[in-house]
Amino acid sequence: MAKFIFITGGVVSSLGKGIVASSIGRILKNKGFKIFMQKFDPYINVDPGTLSPYQHGEVYVTDDGAETDLDLGHYERFTNESLTKLSNITTGRIYSEVIRKEREGKYLGKTVQVIPHITNEIKLQLKRAEDKSGADIIITEIGGTVGDIESLPFLEAIRQFRRERGIENTLFVHCVLLPYLNKSGEIKTKPAQHSTKELGSLGIQPDMIVLRSEVNINNEIREKISLFCDVKKENVFLSKDVDVIYDVVLNLYKQKIDSQICQHFKLTNCDAKMETWENLVKKIKNLKSTIKIALVGKYVSLHDAYLSVVEALNAAGYAYDEKIEIGWINSEELDDVNAKKVLKDYHGIVVPGGFGERGSEGKIAALKYARLHQIPLLGICFGLQLMAIEFARNVLKLPDANTTEFKPHCENPIIDLLENQYEGISLGGTLRLGAYELSLSNDSKVYPYYHHFPIFERHRHRYEFNNKYLQMFNDNGMFVSGRNPHSGLVEVMELKNHPYYVSSQFHPEFKSRPNHPHPFFLGLIAHAKEYRNLKEDANFKSNQ
Ligand code: GLN
Repeated sequence: MAKFIFITGGVVSSLGKGIVASSIGRILKNKGFKIFMQKFDPYINVDPGTLSPYQHGEVYVTDDGAETDLDLGHYERFTNESLTKLSNITTGRIYSEVIRKEREGKYLGKTVQVIPHITNEIKLQLKRAEDKSGADIIITEIGGTVGDIESLPFLEAIRQFRRERGIENTLFVHCVLLPYLNKSGEIKTKPAQHSTKELGSLGIQPDMIVLRSEVNINNEIREKISLFCDVKKENVFLSKDVDVIYDVVLNLYKQKIDSQICQHFKLTNCDAKMETWENLVKKIKNLKSTIKIALVGKYVSLHDAYLSVVEALNAAGYAYDEKIEIGWINSEELDDVNAKKVLKDYHGIVVPGGFGERGSEGKIAALKYARLHQIPLLGICFGLQLMAIEFARNVLKLPDANTTEFKPHCENPIIDLLENQYEGISLGGTLRLGAYELSLSNDSKVYPYYHHFPIFERHRHRYEFNNKYLQMFNDNGMFVSGRNPHSGLVEVMELKNHPYYVSSQFHPEFKSRPNHPHPFFLGLIAHAKEYRNLKEDANFKSNQ
């Protein structure tokens, strides 16, 4: 039987409880426990796949093809555990399961109700995670804020779950905001008290409290929280604002959260091997020089839409001792005329994934500029598709080359929905999702960065490169260096006569970890660094 940690949040949203959950996961993993992580999201969408990035930031994709909340990206980056469909459960999924069972007559004529049918279905997801993962400890974050109508069934389900499994197999961690009033220099504990009381009114008495605060707290505050929230003083933790998110792990570890967890679960408190993580954080805090990367996208006002791309760039930066400075370039404002002015000071360019025509011509302008000016470039998913279109239009001289995503009847559908691609499946929900094998040529510029074979990479797209054009591309210097070994679908493309002009149909960012940067990003940053150094040398010489 697994032990269960439930993380709830109070006072405000965006408290960073996903980071707290991930940090606890990392520490427990470093103690040798097998862990599994889950997020319960209270919204009614069946999964976040259809949510606009404006609403919910990026959609993170797991190996088994689940479209999930971006917190799953934190979980995977912090713990380096591959999560699954069982890791992200929404109210919509729970309800659709219950309604499906009701239609199939599974409830034998009973009135179907929130308690017990919805709560049973929620508990079933906990038990499934336990059975399938074989984990020692399962960490489940409850999305939303305590007090929201939407999260009530989840809270009721975990309350029942404690009753079933007992205190020593379940642990409630409540994360709350501790506001600091700048003018009076005071820390306020009242919102934390109220939120804990609210949770108590639902039958859940937290075992631990994590206080999110911008300032340090003294003993008195800890005592006050302990007294008013009825939590042991040793179980009150501070999660202070940090510059490097990975530092949250070390902060909680310093406060001995792991030994308190072990004590609660009556588990032997073995040592946590923290050295690698400490070195990582130390390294991040001491990065000396900077590489400037232009990220050309449609949602640049909303950085969460590209969270994993940013983290993947940063991770590759750590490997080369470089800090990454991102320039957020709005593709809707970019064209051939202003491309030079906008892009000339960057050492590398990323054209990330995307959907729809809006802003695509600006991305094509960036691709053209990087191709002609030998600037290191990484295209991801839509980035590969647009790279192919730009090349077809301007090198292969096929002016109406396009994707059927927004030009269904173009003469040269370089990117297309392939025949038989989705045989027997209706078009809705037909994205190619999750991990597929990649066969990469050993002549590829990215090949030297891969050390583990076979390679599997994660996908989230509907359209594919049209293989009718493959020979033409290869013959004219655009090397199709990676393909799916079974279907022959194009996975990687790169320009021969260019230091690093590479793109992938898959999303390399989902498999990057702070300690294990992804080969595609390593390649980009290695070449961007070289490009910057050459540029600086040339400037230095011309100034002499
Ligand atoms: N819109 C493209 C497709 O559906 C690319 C998707 C993406 O970049 N994730 O194929």
